[in-house]
Amino acid sequence: METTTCFYVAVCVLVACLSNVQAAGWDYLNDSGKGPDTWEASYDTCGGSKQSPINIETAMVEEKDLGDFTFVGFGEDDKPVNATMTVSNNGHSVVVGVDGDYHVSGAGLGTTAYKAVQFHFHWGSVNSQGSEHTIDGKAYPGELHIVCYNTSYPNFFSALFNEDGLTVLGFFLEIQTVDNPALTQLFDVISSIQFDEEEEDLSMPVVFNNFLPSDLSSYYRYSGSLTTPPCYEIVTWNVFTEPIMVSEAQLNALRRQYANKHNAADNITLTDTYRPVQPVNNRTVYMTDPNAVTDHMTTLSPNQDNINTENVNTPTPSYVNTPTPSSAPCQFASTSLVALVISKVLASVLDD
Ligand SMILES: [Zn+2]
Repeated sequence: METTTCFYVAVCVLVACLSNVQAAGWDYLNDSGKGPDTWEASYDTCGGSKQSPINIETAMVEEKDLGDFTFVGFGEDDKPVNATMTVSNNGHSVVVGVDGDYHVSGAGLGTTAYKAVQFHFHWGSVNSQGSEHTIDGKAYPGELHIVCYNTSYPNFFSALFNEDGLTVLGFFLEIQTVDNPALTQLFDVISSIQFDEEEEDLSMPVVFNNFLPSDLSSYYRYSGSLTTPPCYEIVTWNVFTEPIMVSEAQLNALRRQYANKHNAADNITLTDTYRPVQPVNNRTVYMTDPNAVTDHMTTLSPNQDNINTENVNTPTPSYVNTPTPSSAPCQFASTSLVALVISKVLASVLDD
């Protein structure tokens, strides 16, 4: 009986927590009362000191050889058998759910591989804005994020509660005059969906290497957060310097998406889907670029030789303060049960 009572109490508490999360809501609009300026009020973790995105000031970047990435499943030759990809509008972004063995490792990410679970887009209403990260104040028309979780954890959702839980591969989108042929099928499918909760499978999963930049050896690295609520500070960021090229017609397939469901009374255009840049605070942004190492080595000071990369490569295990969007009563429900319910919430709100 006591167990039963505890269970019901836990369920009630969790339902209350769930209601808080869902009632808060968020979007990218300035006049909705749920825009980026309000996220911190609804989600405490959005007010943290290691938030993303950031403006990368190239003059402040510390150069360091983090090593090469190892990508498994990204190429035509090693693409996983039986992989599937599903394109969906989730009311915040266009997300491509990935089900297959796509892994990334190396590059100072530690000893375990990270597995890709989805990729998604951020974009602007005009070409002068749209990316989340900026370089010396310059924004690109869009940004693509490949979200990967640390396979030292059992699954994506358990990884969300650890500081080294995710790594995101971030690529700017830049405009060229012609379509990117490697993305034709994907953008055709994106064009066929428009409203929240609409989705469609890709008949053929995209091959990442066919549309990612050819040079993946030059990138910025820093410790940051999800760029959407609940903004957990669990992301090792990789912002690649070489952009993905798309045509404006392809970008327009994103600009034609809506935040509302089909047949809503009013259509709300889903555009300018980027969070403004956040304070860097005392974080170091590293850059690895093998083409620049030779020049850099001649100017390294002794102190720079001793750059401590522990913060980047070896996450602090003390980050077990479960970052639930909790109020006090939520604390006494079991952590695993909370994690389970929160995972359901995150599944509906999480874009990266
Ligand atoms: Zn993102």
